[in-house]
Amino acid sequence: MRNRVLIVGAGLTGATLANLLAEKGHKVLVIDKRSHLAGNCYDQVREQILVSRYGAHLFHTNDQAVWKFLQKFADWRTYEHQVLTRINDQSVTLPVNINTINQLFGLKVKTGEEMRHFLSKQALPIKKINSLADYLLSNVGQAIYQKIFYGYSRKQWGIDPARLDVSLSSRLPIRYNFDNRYFTDNYQALPVGGFSTLVKKMLDHPKIEVKLKKDFFKLTKSFIKDFDKVIYTGPIDQYFNYRHGRLEYRSLKFIFKKIEQEFFQNNAVINYPDLSVPYTRIIEFKYFDPSAKPTKYTIIAKEYPKSKGEPYYPVPRARNQRVLAKYLAEAKELEKKGVYFAGRLGTYCYLNMDQAVTGAMKLAERIA
Ligand SMILES: Cc1cc2nc3c(=O)[nH]c(=O)nc-3n(C[C@H](O)[C@H](O)[C@H](O)COP(=O)(O)OP(=O)(O)OC[C@H]3O[C@@H](n4cnc5c(N)ncnc54)[C@H](O)[C@@H]3O)c2cc1C
Repeated sequence: MRNRVLIVGAGLTGATLANLLAEKGHKVLVIDKRSHLAGNCYDQVREQILVSRYGAHLFHTNDQAVWKFLQKFADWRTYEHQVLTRINDQSVTLPVNINTINQLFGLKVKTGEEMRHFLSKQALPIKKINSLADYLLSNVGQAIYQKIFYGYSRKQWGIDPARLDVSLSSRLPIRYNFDNRYFTDNYQALPVGGFSTLVKKMLDHPKIEVKLKKDFFKLTKSFIKDFDKVIYTGPIDQYFNYRHGRLEYRSLKFIFKKIEQEFFQNNAVINYPDLSVPYTRIIEFKYFDPSAKPTKYTIIAKEYPKSKGEPYYPVPRARNQRVLAKYLAEAKELEKKGVYFAGRLGTYCYLNMDQAVTGAMKLAERIA
C-alpha cells in the first residue's frame, strides 16, 4: 500500500487528483464540506431538466491530454456555446464579431478587413493600456464599450472597469469574422448525464473513500496527522486563518424559476449589460441538452452578482496579487511537510474546468 492522502474538496481538481493518485496505488480520502460532489460544477436533474447549481458550466479545451483523460468517465456530446447580449429590444452576438457590429450599427460589413477599418474609427487612442476599460476602449471605442461591456463588467465586478485588471481582457476576445461561438477550442462538449455524474465516476475507485459534509477546519490535528499527504483545494487565505488579509472574491446569487412554457428565451444564455437590470444574465438550462425529452415547462436562472457569499471569482486587483504572493510563499514551504494547494480556491486563480484538470494532473505527476 502506498501513502495515505487526504484531499480537501470534491470538485474537479480534487476528483482528478484522487483518481490519478488512487490509480498509482495511494489510498485516498476525499472530504467536502458541501453535501454534494463536483464542487461548482455540480448539477442535478430537476423535473427532467439538468440544472447547474452554480451557473452554466460549458466544457472547452485545446488540451488533448485533458480531453483524453476525461473520456474515461463519461460519453461526451458536442456542444458549441453561443451567447447573446440584450441591448434595449435587440439581441446581439457575443464575442464582438462582424455580426455584432452589423446588428448594432445596421452595417453590411463582410470582411475582417472592413471590420478593422470600422473599429479603427471608433477606437480611442490610448497609449498605455492599464485597465480593462483601456483595453476595450482602445479596441472597440466608446459606443460598443458602453452598450456591451461597461454595465455588465460594472455589475459583475462591483467596480468601474477602469479599475479592473487588464488580464480580464483574455475573456473578452474581439473576432474579425462571423464565428458566433463563444469558445473556439478544438474540443467543446458536455458530459452526458452531467458533471456530477462525471465526478462520481472519477471517484468510484476501490482506493478512494468520500465523506461529504466534512469541513477540513473541524478535523482534529491527530486525524490529519494520520495522512502522509494533504491536498487542499479550499480557499488559500482561510487555510492560513487570513493572517495576511482576506482575498477578495465576487459571488453570485442564483434565482431559479420554473416557467410554464416550452422555452423562455431564444438562447441558452442572454446577457443583460444594462445597469438598470440587477442581474447580469439569464440561463435557460434546456438548451444544453437538445436530446432531452421535451417538456411543456422550462427552468431558468438569473445571476445577481454580489460581494459576499460563496467565493466564485477571484477579483483581479494588484492588492489581491500582493496578498496572494504571501500565502503562496507559505504554501510552498508547507510542501516540505506534504501539504499541497491546488485548484481554483487553493491557488486563487480563475481556472476553467480544463485548467483545473491540467493543474491537478501536473500535481499528481509531481507527488505520486
Ligand atoms: C459561476 C461559474 C461559472 C463557471 N462556468 C464555467 C464554464 O462555463 N466553463 C469552465 O470551464 N469553467 C467554468 N467555471 C469554473 C469551474 O467551476 C472551475 O474550473 C472548477 O469548478 C474548479 O474546480 P475546483 O475543484 O478547483 O474548485 P471547486 O469546484 O470550487 O471545488 C472546491 C471544493 O472544495 C470544497 N471545500 C472548500 N473548503 C473546504 C473545507 N474547509 N473543507 C472541505 N471542503 C472544502 C468546496 O465545498 C468545493 O466543493 C465556472 C465557475 C463559476 C463560479
